[in-house]
Amino acid sequence: MTIDLVLANGTVVTPSGVMEADILVSGEVIADIVPPGTGRGARMIDARGRIVLPGGVDAHVHFLIGFMGQRSVYDFYSGTVAALRGGNTTVIDFALQRRGRSMLDGLKHRRVQADRHVATDYGLHLIATDINPSSLAEVPALVEAGAASFKVYTVYEKEQLKVDDGPLHDLMRALGQAGGMLGLHAENASLIDHAIAKHLAAGEVAPRYHATSRPALAETEAVRRGLLLAEDAGCPLHIFHLNSGPALDAIEAAAARGQKASAETCTHYLALTAEKLDREDGHLYVMSPPLRDKATQDRMWQGVASGGFAAVTSDDASYSAEAKALGAESFDRIANGVPGVEHRLPLLYTLGVEAGRLTLPQLAYAWATGPATLFGLAPQKGSIALGADADLVLLDPETRRTMTPESHYGAIGYNPFDGMSLTGWPTLTVRRGQVAVEDGKFLGEPGQGRFLTRRLGAR
Ligand SMILES: [Zn+2]
Repeated sequence: MTIDLVLANGTVVTPSGVMEADILVSGEVIADIVPPGTGRGARMIDARGRIVLPGGVDAHVHFLIGFMGQRSVYDFYSGTVAALRGGNTTVIDFALQRRGRSMLDGLKHRRVQADRHVATDYGLHLIATDINPSSLAEVPALVEAGAASFKVYTVYEKEQLKVDDGPLHDLMRALGQAGGMLGLHAENASLIDHAIAKHLAAGEVAPRYHATSRPALAETEAVRRGLLLAEDAGCPLHIFHLNSGPALDAIEAAAARGQKASAETCTHYLALTAEKLDREDGHLYVMSPPLRDKATQDRMWQGVASGGFAAVTSDDASYSAEAKALGAESFDRIANGVPGVEHRLPLLYTLGVEAGRLTLPQLAYAWATGPATLFGLAPQKGSIALGADADLVLLDPETRRTMTPESHYGAIGYNPFDGMSLTGWPTLTVRRGQVAVEDGKFLGEPGQGRFLTRRLGAR
């Protein structure tokens, strides 16, 4: 077997441990892992002083998206280049079923938008917005096509995304039978709409009221309701972007009882708290669920360390500073979401590992192995093992840099993590055996990424 590439003398980290080793790559896969300094191959890369992790699996990104009247800066090309620069080799985005249309059409349309442009490998979650006998009949074909994880929104009726409990329960039954999974954006719409109306009537329009109108209660109620419905329907449940202590308690308790229940939190919840909303540029920090207090943040970190969360995702939604400012005069009109696909690793490393909240193996799990396993990509993705895809990232644990609005690839115009001094920057990203980014420079071509047909059930 020809060895094309050797990453030599690095500190190799997986969820099961840390070791000094050489990683040998042949073609697109890992061919061998040998004692440090003993590997030989056509191209040698010195990884001394570097931490070698599985390439990141960001299971929640929104590239090329329109929402609340705004468009993301990132399309499938620029977004996946930003992802690679951040050490990610796989992302999972979303295909939208428009109301009145078929789910399979939604998947087909999204693949046309993405396939020729992606620089990372990618998968798609299917966003279901119109559940009826004919769309339910498509569920087995969608699972077969590799979009086995669905997303349903319990909020956002104005944006034509919300699904009510009855149709949701029907969809859960269909997914349970077909071997799929239901992911929820879990917030109680009635509690939130009522609170928003009260704030607006009182003239309370500042960004902070976005957070007070979406309390942890609204999230926790929807998570518990989702758990009840999913358990009855026999469907695995995943909670996207969780940021409530009691909601995490509910997921952990359900999983401990044997229910197939999982959750992810996001880097912004681990790095930021609701005080940001009181700044003059507080509108930049509007996302849903909202930023909360320090105690919630501490609980989220605990969930990452314990494995209570199967993943930490970025929920990247790259509305520009200008686009976010368009809604700044009233909190209910600000496009929800922040960018972050490029900075998940230095944030997790600095605030997690360096701060003593995470071990390196725990980082590897939240960063890559956990999401790959949950979403049907393991062991091909998220592992450093013989025969796995040679998706790898080298991380520099020494160099510190301060985040600025220019730290992002592309013109987003702000950075939610502005001013933070971070270490753990990726220096080299290998995607299926090819050096795709070195020192921030993209060395590949659009369309080199592949659509991943995911099969659930490894967990
Ligand atoms: Zn999202």
